[in-house]
Amino acid sequence: MIRLTLGEIAELTHGRLDGGADPSAQVTGPVVHDSRQVVPGALFAALAGERADGHDFADQVTAAGAVAVLATRPVGVPAVVVGDVIEALSALAREVVARLGVTVLALTGSTGKTSTKDLIAQVLPRLGPTVATYGSFNNEIGLPLTALKAEESTRYLVLEMGARGIGHIRHLTGLTPPRLGLVLNVGAAHAGEFGGRDKTAQAKGELVEALPADGVAVLNADDPLVRAMASRTKARTVFFGEAADADVRASDVRLSDDGRPLFTLHTPKGHADVIMKLYGEHHVSNALAAAAVAHELGLPAEEIAAALSEAAPVSRWRMEVTERADGVTVVNDAYNANPDSMRAALRALAAMGRAAHEKGGRTWAVLGEMAELGDESMAEHDGVGRLAVRLNVSKLVAVGGREAAWLQMGAYNEGSWGEESVHVSDAAAAIELLRSELRPGDVVLVKASRSVGLEKVAAALLEGE
Ligand code: ATP
Ligand code: MG
Repeated sequence: MIRLTLGEIAELTHGRLDGGADPSAQVTGPVVHDSRQVVPGALFAALAGERADGHDFADQVTAAGAVAVLATRPVGVPAVVVGDVIEALSALAREVVARLGVTVLALTGSTGKTSTKDLIAQVLPRLGPTVATYGSFNNEIGLPLTALKAEESTRYLVLEMGARGIGHIRHLTGLTPPRLGLVLNVGAAHAGEFGGRDKTAQAKGELVEALPADGVAVLNADDPLVRAMASRTKARTVFFGEAADADVRASDVRLSDDGRPLFTLHTPKGHADVIMKLYGEHHVSNALAAAAVAHELGLPAEEIAAALSEAAPVSRWRMEVTERADGVTVVNDAYNANPDSMRAALRALAAMGRAAHEKGGRTWAVLGEMAELGDESMAEHDGVGRLAVRLNVSKLVAVGGREAAWLQMGAYNEGSWGEESVHVSDAAAAIELLRSELRPGDVVLVKASRSVGLEKVAAALLEGE
């Protein structure tokens, strides 16, 4: 965070100082909304959440060294009192980004935003100091808080943007105008909420509409709805993907025996081999997206390939692979799921399984509901169940209610499956089953939508490791 005085903060946010706040006192950062993250010099943003109201923590954060509280009412300690805390954070973020002159990259898509953002955040430091969204903190609160982490030395700001509906991304891009805009894909994700893929494309395309004429739209050539966004932007376009006409593309894509993607990266400036540490073929598309961004910012192909090959998983519960001491491998992808990511994870499991099968191990897909699919829900769950059989997964454990029954039904319809698929009601039942059945050499994938909370299963399987 750049140093701002409370006087400057009050001016920028149209707020007033209260509680004995000294206008010349300096906030040295960070700006936080979680009282546990307060350190001396911080500015605490008092937000009212579902469970707690930040205003109630005013004394505590002051004792922990916060210079002031950004609040909507006097709190008895030094404060900047504003009409709306989120708007005040946005005003501060806009100012910080403008003052620092950082290059802002915004990215959106239905699937893989965080995975791709984490890759970009591990490639761009080769060009200069980079600040990126933490986890999936991609809404109107996370965005300004991330931007406010930028410092004098920061050159790149990488912002994940989630689209909850039409107009949402337009709003977010207004807060921190991007020069580069990356759109990954328009999947079936959240189709129920948005009312179809065309609406989703409409909403995500707002990202490229926000780009200036001297900006760059980085678009997925393999996704027709993303490709079509080229006509919605003033900016220059750069395409990535496996399509032959993509500017940044991959050739010789294959999976290693343990499920890691290998490919040759081609940029307009050269080519180099990539051997990823991450698991799952879906990372090829994410890696190409990151490569296209890095190429646009001037990084040579060899350096991009080296950085992608070194990139490690950062955000939790996304294809986290752990081998237990007894030789059971747990693949925790319980962070979230939609049909695209389910299929990608099953393919990765199948690839890992080829080696496991040779040693007598089995592959287990412990799967739960994919939420928010609306009318497509039954067909999509059925399709995933079928794919598990086609990929030769040894055992399917469908966890939950109606959707789990559809998963199992799909598996059953695809082949003459009997005891290879099991339907259990909840995570506890899945844990019990797996504890008694797993044996050395087995590989277990755990995956469902966020709301199902299947990370409990992965945690139980890894207890004591
Ligand atoms: P959210 O909207 O929850 O923030 P996100 O778009 O940030 O999601 P990630 O968290 O990166 O997405 O990934 C969600 C799930 O999708 C993970 O299980 C991940 O392994 C998988 N995944 C990541 N990238 C892709 C991709 N390109 N295609 C299919 N699945 C993917
Ligand atoms: Mg995310």
